[in-house]
Amino acid sequence: MKLTTSYFGCRILRHVKRDMQRLDRLGFARVVHTFSENDLFYFPETMRDIVSASHDAGLEVQLDPWGVGGIFGGEAFSRWILDEPDLMQRGASGRPLGAACLNHPRVQELVREWTLAAARTGADWIFWDEPHWSFKGPRNPAGEYCVCEHCRRVARAQAEAPGSSLPIGDDLACAPRAAVDRFRALSVIYLLGGLTRFAADQGLKSSICVLPHGTMDQPSISWAELASLPGVGEFGTDPYWQAFGFTRPDERDRFIDENARAAKAAAKQAGSETMLWIQAFRVPAAGEDDLLEGAERLVGHAPDAVAIWAFEACAHMSALACENPRRIWRRLVNLLGRELGR
Ligand SMILES: [Zn+2]
Repeated sequence: MKLTTSYFGCRILRHVKRDMQRLDRLGFARVVHTFSENDLFYFPETMRDIVSASHDAGLEVQLDPWGVGGIFGGEAFSRWILDEPDLMQRGASGRPLGAACLNHPRVQELVREWTLAAARTGADWIFWDEPHWSFKGPRNPAGEYCVCEHCRRVARAQAEAPGSSLPIGDDLACAPRAAVDRFRALSVIYLLGGLTRFAADQGLKSSICVLPHGTMDQPSISWAELASLPGVGEFGTDPYWQAFGFTRPDERDRFIDENARAAKAAAKQAGSETMLWIQAFRVPAAGEDDLLEGAERLVGHAPDAVAIWAFEACAHMSALACENPRRIWRRLVNLLGRELGR
């Protein structure tokens, strides 16, 4: 079981070097560095040095398109959608939905440019982090979905494809929700398929992490199809039971088990490995025992890699920090170290 953590919020090389060496001493095999649009624009060579320092410390490196385009998970802003507002998802009311449209042809081009920059850092993997459509929230209060010209074009093409059973009809805005969700799920698979193939051409392996089933207003996507995309060597999910509101122990355990089993089954079918994530952000002091119990259950599913979001329980980032980050980090590292030693 490869122990992994994500790392972000520091671009000062001497500090990063010390942290990477510390991770190695604690038994970590890998690190996921976030590589946001901000990093792409302002830190590309710095990120190369950070990747190099991580390798020097003995860690394998995955790079995460953190918040890129608003399509991937992460607390980072997108400049692309400011520079090119036409990229944005647009609801039937005409409201821009605060993230780029997965079906916009420029998005595939832009994320490929990001991938080329990621390849230049010398990283080993791309960690495709929670690819998603705009969900109900402050940027999309009514929970609208994109009906832009590109979505309409792609939906029409999908509906008219030989053997298609997609009852989209003439107007995407009025189509049955089940058909819309099927179209949106296929769009995620299509976008990721182009990207993982392109990443493989650059010598980068792909790890895909999906949001757990039934969360964040996302359509139900075939995990088996995602896991078997070209170049995918690892597939997983992040069943953060506290963040997603599964607070009762029986709900928590069911949520963990269902998602862990589904991820492992999809990965196994595709011949890839499994990575499962543990929440180490915004954990209240009163939730620590629950977190450790759930973490132990998740590790019991024996994923090939177990990962912590994020380094030192996000102590350095006030919006994500756990209430007692030093303690929860130590407890998690002790638990996972014990599992590694078995
Ligand atoms: Zn669209």
